[in-house]
Amino acid sequence: MHSAKHGESQPTPTTIASDVTEGASDAGPAIAGPDRGTLLTVEVPRGTVVLAATPIGNTGDASARLRALMEHADIVAAEDTRRLHDLARRLDVHVNGRVVAFHDHNERAKADGLLDEVEAGACVLVVSDAGMPTINDPGLSIVRRAIERGLPVTCAPGPSAVLDALALSGLPTDRFCYEGFLPRKHAERVQRLRSLQAERRTIVFYETPHRIADSMDDLLSAFGPDRRMALARELTKDYEEIRRGTIAEILDGVVMDPPRGEIVLVIAGASEDEARENSASTLSVEELAVLSIDRALEDGLRIKDAIAEVIEEHPLPDGSLANRKQVYSAVLEIKQ
Ligand code: SAM
Repeated sequence: MHSAKHGESQPTPTTIASDVTEGASDAGPAIAGPDRGTLLTVEVPRGTVVLAATPIGNTGDASARLRALMEHADIVAAEDTRRLHDLARRLDVHVNGRVVAFHDHNERAKADGLLDEVEAGACVLVVSDAGMPTINDPGLSIVRRAIERGLPVTCAPGPSAVLDALALSGLPTDRFCYEGFLPRKHAERVQRLRSLQAERRTIVFYETPHRIADSMDDLLSAFGPDRRMALARELTKDYEEIRRGTIAEILDGVVMDPPRGEIVLVIAGASEDEARENSASTLSVEELAVLSIDRALEDGLRIKDAIAEVIEEHPLPDGSLANRKQVYSAVLEIKQ
């Protein structure tokens, strides 16, 4: 362990020689090749926060840097300390530094204390349960505070389900947006999806098996049956599966054969026509009222039903809908 000494003005990095193949895979024997047994030189920087990605299922995806950092960081801030030790056991790595729990509920409170140690010369490694810290996982607080305090922060990148699923989806990767998990509540989910109806970029969501059927129903309502998508599950694991098709086809598959395990949804962006049709409303309440009156006359609807239709078709930029009462009042004023 590299103990942090107060007053050290220029902490020097520690260089570690690491055997990159030993114990590298739990999915079978390590593949023999020219690199077998090669010694890599890995730097463990002093006086620095290091975010490191951990495997999202396949232990073989652990990088040489991750292993060296787990072994030689002064402090390991882990989302779940038991899972850290479990990973260390699978990697045959000994964690020499102090291990502290660093999760959603305490990361803000703990960030400054850890950064005091960084200031004193420690290497603080931040890892989450799986994948990249900060991507729907803890880590952002310490990055922000490190930036504010002018302390070095770096990253040992690696597996993350977003990029894995995106790359395997077969959908455009040149422009994409990551939306994390959809809201749990139906009304909020519908509003979020409405706000994405005109999104031209490929959209990536994280999802869970117990909400996938409801989310697929809402995706179909928001984007229509024919939009292309991919459902990626259990990435990097033995039962990795990628289902590709239209939203209607994937929904059918979800009903017939509910997917288990960890899931990422990748949805194609809107076509130019869809984007134009769905672009967020900048219509005023008065304009919505005029449209509603026209709709009621043309389709023989009650004015309240016409208003409901019109405001549904013209969501506001955040996906919410205009206030029905306000549109109704505007209709009454126009009719006077
Ligand atoms: N930090 C992680 C990352 O970089 O991907 C994400 C953590 S988030 C709490 C967990 C979610 O990521 C899961 O519910 C699932 O949607 C997705 N995920 C993680 N591992 C996955 C895998 N092996 N296959 C598919 N999705 C995965």
